[in-house]
Amino acid sequence: MNNDIEKVLYSKEDIKKTCQKLGQKIAKQYAGKKPLVIGVLKGAIVFMTDLIRNMDIYMDIDFIDVSSYGGGTKSSGNVKLVKDIDTDVKGRNVLFIEDIIDTGRTLKYLKNLLMDRGANSIHVCTLMDKPEGRLVDVKADYVGLKVPNEFVVGYGMDYKEEYRNLPYVGVLKPRVYSNLN
Ligand code: 5GP
Ligand code: MG
Ligand code: MG
Repeated sequence: MNNDIEKVLYSKEDIKKTCQKLGQKIAKQYAGKKPLVIGVLKGAIVFMTDLIRNMDIYMDIDFIDVSSYGGGTKSSGNVKLVKDIDTDVKGRNVLFIEDIIDTGRTLKYLKNLLMDRGANSIHVCTLMDKPEGRLVDVKADYVGLKVPNEFVVGYGMDYKEEYRNLPYVGVLKPRVYSNLN
């Protein structure tokens, strides 16, 4: 798997520091508010598990799954709800956890969905942000790391469902996309 990586953008240590910094900052702002922390499957799971262990506050957690990429490296533009949360969000302070924000379509869809259900507040924390990819106007409230307009994998993020378990974030070698080994 390591052998398919062209370059590492953020190391294990970079990510660890980012989780500590973000976790402490968010915990301060949510102290006493018992947020509902919602991980966006599947990409956010690795980040979420590290992030919430840096937050010394009471919280509930839940998960939601939406699809827009259809397995490739380009967003299809069509966001679909694949798995809903189990928790009633009425009056709750929601914090979405995302792996990466590109076009912003997924985030816009998720924010609208929970706003319609009567959440009290909705904020977003993303490990990575690709500001150049933005096609709709949404912003994350907490951003860990910026990435250029390149397709990245690792630390939860996949290419065709693989590479999620890499402990760092990197870019694949061109041969992986052309399937030539
Ligand atoms: P958006 O709706 O903002 O275009 O994209 C949202 C989702 O697409 C992200 O949560 C992530 O799962 C996936 N995505 C966007 N950019 C990348 C990328 O560079 N690499 C991977 N593996 N997934 C991405
Ligand atoms: Mg995601
Ligand atoms: Mg994906």
